[in-house]
Amino acid sequence: MIDVRSRAFEHLHYFADTLGERPAGSPANHQAEAYVRESFQSNGLAIEEVRVPFPDWSLNSAQLIHAGRSLALSANPFSPACDVTAPTVAVSTLPELEAANITGKIALLYGELSSRPIFPINFMPVRLDRDIAINKLLIEKAPAAVLAVNLHPTRHIDVIEDEDFPLSSATIPVAEGNYLLQHVGETVHLRIDAESRDSHVTTLIGRTAGNPERRIVVSAHFDTKFNTPGAQDNGTGMAVLLTLAEMLAGRDLPIGLDFVAWSDEEFGAHSDTAYVERYRDQFPQMMCCINMDGIGPRAENTTLTMLAQSEAFEQQMHDITTDYPAVVWVDPWYASNHYTYFANGVPALVLGSLTMDRTHQPDDTADWISEAKLDEVTRLVLDIIMAIQDQSTDWTRA
Ligand SMILES: [Zn+2]
Repeated sequence: MIDVRSRAFEHLHYFADTLGERPAGSPANHQAEAYVRESFQSNGLAIEEVRVPFPDWSLNSAQLIHAGRSLALSANPFSPACDVTAPTVAVSTLPELEAANITGKIALLYGELSSRPIFPINFMPVRLDRDIAINKLLIEKAPAAVLAVNLHPTRHIDVIEDEDFPLSSATIPVAEGNYLLQHVGETVHLRIDAESRDSHVTTLIGRTAGNPERRIVVSAHFDTKFNTPGAQDNGTGMAVLLTLAEMLAGRDLPIGLDFVAWSDEEFGAHSDTAYVERYRDQFPQMMCCINMDGIGPRAENTTLTMLAQSEAFEQQMHDITTDYPAVVWVDPWYASNHYTYFANGVPALVLGSLTMDRTHQPDDTADWISEAKLDEVTRLVLDIIMAIQDQSTDWTRA
């Protein structure tokens, strides 16, 4: 019998400590991919791959200067390099952006326009009219660069992170925004020294030899945002996925299992689109997807939600979770990799945590993660698989 706790933690330490940040397309992302492939292979799973192009972006340095004063900034992920000296034009709403003359100047987004991240141009799971309009207007008006004020007082948020956004851009802390808004129209100097190389992301599917006509998908993603070791998001989900693969690969089950390790959940969901194209015919054979994202913080609870499920399936999951009194049911949330399944009619069961407050931050470290919480999720997923292994694909579906 595998010592689940220590095994899962070994995997977590590899992702969060040995590799650290592993954004899509980066060398560390490819190392994580190699680690998953080796783990799948050593357990005798048949491996399939979905590979798509994705840039390997890296930042050398960034600088923002106003009247000899150096201001704090964070170049947005995927920003093209730039070295511009231009006056700022401040805009806080879509009507202001529509009316503004920002061509060749530095657009300073604040207020409503920078109050939350602007979804990427080609991000299919979420299409907001507001974000589509902001992207379109900025690209049409062609400012020399874009600065966005992060309104959150403590949490670092990249307002724009879009590999398809063609303008140089950076996010500045609210204090720097407060300063620059007192000097609107004055010249600032923005220099971003960044590189973007052609690269790729590979999502790995490890399959057991069980019945392919009825299969359960267990999924998690191994990539991170930039500047975070990604322990909770999502080293933990991957640690449990690999542990489950080790425990289940050799078992003689009446169903097939697909362990899906996603490589680019954090940016753009390019692999999801390619996965849907490749496996469209197999969605009817999938009984459900069990997705893990953001599990494990010691001071929180494991959360569970379901999408596109039948009443009978949901009832059975409620019955199972009575054995897990620390697990909390929550409302469905529409992000992460389970989107790809329920949007294609496959019931999804999602395991996460009460908050995602530390995710995407530099202190998303393994220190906050409890072995007992990973053990809890591991046992819960095993119980779920055992409970539904004799059911049909119709039984799980809404
Ligand atoms: Zn995540």
